[in-house]
Amino acid sequence: MGIGYNLVSTRVYPRRIAANWKLLAARSGNAWPVIKSDAYGHGLAGAARELAAAGAADFCVGTVGEAAQLLDAMPGVRAVSLLGPLDRAECAEAAGRGVLCFCGRFEQLAMLDEAARDAGRPARVALKFDTGMARLGFTASDLPEVLETLAACPDLQVELAASHLATADEPATRDFVLGQGRILKEIADSLGAAGRRVGICLANSAALLAYPELHFDVQRPGIALYGANPLHGTSQDEPGLGLLPAMEVTAPILSVHDLPAGAGISYGRTFIAPRDMRVAVVAVGYADNYSRGLANKGFMNLAGTRAPILGRVCMQMTAVDVTGLPCSAGDEIFLLGGPGPGAVTAEDLAGWWGTITYEVFCLLGQNPRTEVLDTAPDLA
Ligand SMILES: *Cc1c(COP(=O)(O)O)cnc(C)c1O
Repeated sequence: MGIGYNLVSTRVYPRRIAANWKLLAARSGNAWPVIKSDAYGHGLAGAARELAAAGAADFCVGTVGEAAQLLDAMPGVRAVSLLGPLDRAECAEAAGRGVLCFCGRFEQLAMLDEAARDAGRPARVALKFDTGMARLGFTASDLPEVLETLAACPDLQVELAASHLATADEPATRDFVLGQGRILKEIADSLGAAGRRVGICLANSAALLAYPELHFDVQRPGIALYGANPLHGTSQDEPGLGLLPAMEVTAPILSVHDLPAGAGISYGRTFIAPRDMRVAVVAVGYADNYSRGLANKGFMNLAGTRAPILGRVCMQMTAVDVTGLPCSAGDEIFLLGGPGPGAVTAEDLAGWWGTITYEVFCLLGQNPRTEVLDTAPDLA
């Protein structure tokens, strides 16, 4: 893939994603990898292929369209749509292909039941409950009506009660997190008491790592698969320390030149050289999803050494300080990853950028991407 104009190059390591999954699955028992949004920018098909080779069988994506894309690439696997079907066409697709659908609206259940009849096979459902995120799902008070609706939908096969945690990556909110777990457990118990025995699915990466008591039957790790620790910088970062980064991003240097003391650089001249300096102009900018917010804040990694960004990030160019560092036009510089002590972690980049690792991966993953297959899957 590529967008035609950029020189930025994203390298992904799907076998490291699989190695991370093994680590997580060993901890929690039944971890279904979340590979929505093109596997957080790492490439849906490559990630699914290596995860399946490592033993994963159920894969979570967002839309039914993504589920179809996954099943086209990997016909043997089971797909889960976390957003669930939106309309009749998606219901037909999901029911026909056996996609497990998260459903949090009454109309969804009715539509899916009808589609299941047309498809001649039961439609697989995970009932989605809102236990504190206030985004999607039935509430606990909807339960009587949910049971009534299910009674009128004979072609639905209800497998799970699911919910999503709002603050699992913030140790200070422990009570709220456990409260969400308690609410979901009570809901599942009520369903069971009404003759609808279901599994429970709640934990994201942070809960998988920090809340063993919330593992229940199925876990849904996303970000940790890609090597980012959702508890980075908190008191609970320890369980996520062995994860392997699975994305590196580079761009070529276009030009290297002197910047004399007192000279400004880039639009607005927001950086003025305090002394004689040498700068490299790198072929990456906000058109390559490299945020303009990194102006005078971020760093790149030149052969193991941190090179600070000087002045504003432009559309296709960014200047960095390479004073004392040998380099010339054509050399590759790392925006993410790279060798030595200057390695830029996703957490570093997200911090300078003013965002989270998820957004860094999704955005930088949209650049032209190549897969690198490590020979040793467990490099930890
Ligand atoms: C994205 C997503 C996940 C994965 O969350 P991470 O924080 O990346 O582990 C789990 N469940 C749902 C519903 C999601 O949308």
